[in-house]
Amino acid sequence: MIALDDLLKQIWPLAKPVEETESLPLNQVHGRVLASPVLAGLNVPQHDNSGMDGYALCVADLAKAQAEGLPVSQRIPAGASPEPLVPGTLARIFTGAPIPPGADAVVMQEDTQVLSNGFVRLTGAINPGQFIRRAGEDIAHGQVVLAQGTVLGAVQVGLLASVGQAVAQVRRPLRVGVVVTGSELQHPGQPLQAGQIYNSNEFVWVGLLKAMGVEVHTLGIVPDNLQATCDAFASLAHCDAVISSGGVSVGEEDHVKPAIERVGSLDSWKVAMKPGKPLAFGRIHGELGHVCWFFGLPGNPVSSALAFKLVAKPFLGVLQGRPLADVDWRGRMAMATAGFEWTKPDTRREEFLRVRLQYKQGEPTLALHGNQSSGVLTSLDQSTGLARLQVGQVVKPGDRLNYISYRDLMA
Ligand code: AMP
Ligand code: MG
Repeated sequence: MIALDDLLKQIWPLAKPVEETESLPLNQVHGRVLASPVLAGLNVPQHDNSGMDGYALCVADLAKAQAEGLPVSQRIPAGASPEPLVPGTLARIFTGAPIPPGADAVVMQEDTQVLSNGFVRLTGAINPGQFIRRAGEDIAHGQVVLAQGTVLGAVQVGLLASVGQAVAQVRRPLRVGVVVTGSELQHPGQPLQAGQIYNSNEFVWVGLLKAMGVEVHTLGIVPDNLQATCDAFASLAHCDAVISSGGVSVGEEDHVKPAIERVGSLDSWKVAMKPGKPLAFGRIHGELGHVCWFFGLPGNPVSSALAFKLVAKPFLGVLQGRPLADVDWRGRMAMATAGFEWTKPDTRREEFLRVRLQYKQGEPTLALHGNQSSGVLTSLDQSTGLARLQVGQVVKPGDRLNYISYRDLMA
């Protein structure tokens, strides 16, 4: 058996980003991966501007402004281009409007009083520089706004817009094939015959892949038959990667490994982790030397979902163009307190326990899901994440455990 960390060290560095990139308008890049860094060609904001509706002044005139008030020499709405401030006067100013040259503070209108002669008197204390948003305080000219490999979420696309970029250079979407093997599987919507179960893994994976912005190619159910399995894999050889569910053990009905040996090359392991022991990894040979990476994951619903998230998904993330350090979920683990006992640990494999994070007296506490079987998909719905236990680790209530939420696993 191989330790999970050793396996990840072997396979993750093999992933190389897809090379093709495209330049797309901002409304089409959400979820895509940036192919090159973006530098700011301007300051954001461009000018010092007001953080309040009120009056701009020169602090040197403060005493007079507080005693008898000052006249208002100009009015500066947002979008206007102001004149220099006439000494001894105030400028009426609105949020976002440029600060006139010569002014060094803004007083909010709530702290002023308009006198009968039209002068404005300041009623509160002020500090030099107050309510001025400085040019470049958000983004400075020349600064890297977003690094290569960034996933463009809503905020990141907004940042591109804020520096005036109308298009972004992104990598093309990854193409991933999905194969579910098992002669016992039936498609939802069809009646179950004796001995059949519904195929659920495909729908879990398609959801996880779509959430990553992947273009998914599904083949439906492939029966436990060597030729059918070979044909299925070969027909997906144009993809960047293929993941298959089930048939990866060494039983007579397990055809995934022999099939990959026929249509490509294979490494396979027993990974010292629970759930999810058998795992195959390799390549399917495509046309013109194209490499299609292959992950053969276990069929049990929990094992298959977790092996996808823990092993395959980060690899696919690097193919998408993300830095390895960003996709490695181990850097996102946090500590949380066990609210349960675990007295019979596995003595050969590390364990990922399905747990629910809840707050007890403000303290993040982990409750154990009552069914840790690798076949019960409900346990994934009813837990919030995984506690990672070392080989042989027992748990007492109050112990600090390594925890990762499913959301952070998918980040
Ligand atoms: P296998 O890895 O093929 O030995 O399958 C292990 C267990 O997972 C068996 O009980 C299968 O019936 C179940 N299983 C395999 N594939 C699926 C699937 N696509 N959806 C739901 N359960 C599955
Ligand atoms: Mg099977």
